[in-house]
Amino acid sequence: MARLYDSRKRVLVTGGAGFLGSHLCDRLLDQGHEVLCVDNLFTGTKRNIDHLHNNPRFEFMRHDVTFPLFVEVDEIYNLACPASPVHYQHDPVQTTKTSVHGAINMLGLAKRLKCKIFQASTSEVYGDPTIHPQTEDYWGNVNPVGPRSCYDEGKRCAETLFFDYHRQMGLEIKVARIFNTYGPRMHPADGRVVSNFIMQALTGDPITIFGDGTQTRSFCYVDDLIEGFIRLMETGADVTGPVNLGNPNEFSMNELAREVQALVGAETPVSFKELPEDDPKQRQPDITLARTLLGWEPKVQLKEGLHATIRYFRDLQAEGET
Ligand code: NAD
Ligand code: UDP
Ligand code: UDP
Repeated sequence: MARLYDSRKRVLVTGGAGFLGSHLCDRLLDQGHEVLCVDNLFTGTKRNIDHLHNNPRFEFMRHDVTFPLFVEVDEIYNLACPASPVHYQHDPVQTTKTSVHGAINMLGLAKRLKCKIFQASTSEVYGDPTIHPQTEDYWGNVNPVGPRSCYDEGKRCAETLFFDYHRQMGLEIKVARIFNTYGPRMHPADGRVVSNFIMQALTGDPITIFGDGTQTRSFCYVDDLIEGFIRLMETGADVTGPVNLGNPNEFSMNELAREVQALVGAETPVSFKELPEDDPKQRQPDITLARTLLGWEPKVQLKEGLHATIRYFRDLQAEGET
């Protein structure tokens, strides 16, 4: 609840010490809001929010969203959840609990406060898609019992909860389906393709391409994505989502490897490894809805975004943080 005589909002960001969450905290603070960052530091780090500690409008609370949370805020962004396969498969039961119990607690909080709530959902709700590109009305092709299911089904159930709280309790919800995003503050050891390829090129280790490298992904730069979050949150109550947010420019893993090698300037060898189970072959967002509803589309080209990300990883390396 905004203070008397004060139009600025108090915004809760769960997962605020993570990659995307820390950029969102930055953006909200830049807009003049107060930010309450809630994170259990499972995959996030204090390093991502170190620069915010002297800001009197920023507050950090170490807390696990699978437990109830009683705070007073005007808006909630629910991002808490490990996002990379290595991280979310480390403790799959906790991953599902984070998505499901975390959603219930944050929805309960939003219900008590009568405030709007944003959910960081994912393109993984489409599973290994049988239609291409994916539109929001596609129901997906998800294995319910595989190694990725804790994440995919957890996020699907969270979407169900968001829509049932909306229908049953009249909650104002905003559900974003996020496609692969990269940029500074990605975890260097999260096992995701962008961080792996860059770290391998920087250290001279072979670039590990899973499968034959012809599978595709569409990579969105973090600044573009955060702009999409803010625009979605600012829509009227009639807009609930789900809305795809991602960059429709699709690349194969072979193309990505070549781009990273060229930008790092390294003659790193390539090593082909087995394709992980249930690895989607192709993924590309259809962002027609985001373009229409939010007037949003990504602006940062892959080369430019990779350049900024490589610079970040080089700095981490120089500080001995990798
Ligand atoms: P991240 O791992 O960097 O951030 C997640 C944050 O949540 C971390 O700081 C972690 O410590 C925190 N967290 C995890 N479990 C928690 C719990 N039980 N209680 C409190 N905090 C907890 O990942 P990210 O890439 O920043 O992803 C943020 C959100 O966006 C996630 O919900 C993820 O599923 C979603 N998403 C990300 C991408 C992407 O490409 N980065 C794509 C689709 C969806
Ligand atoms: N909750 C919370 N903070 C609040 C209000 C609720 O964490 O400010 C939690 C509460 O502990 C409950 C969940 O949100 O487990 C769902 O709340 P809701 O009111 O929808 O359900 P109920 O409490 O009736 O089970
Ligand atoms: N991948 C790869 N080498 C790596 C890491 C990942 O070729 O070192 C592949 C992976 O098999 C997948 C794609 O890159 O096809 C994207 O993987 P990531 O884990 O980044 O994201 P997701 O599979 O969740 O889209």
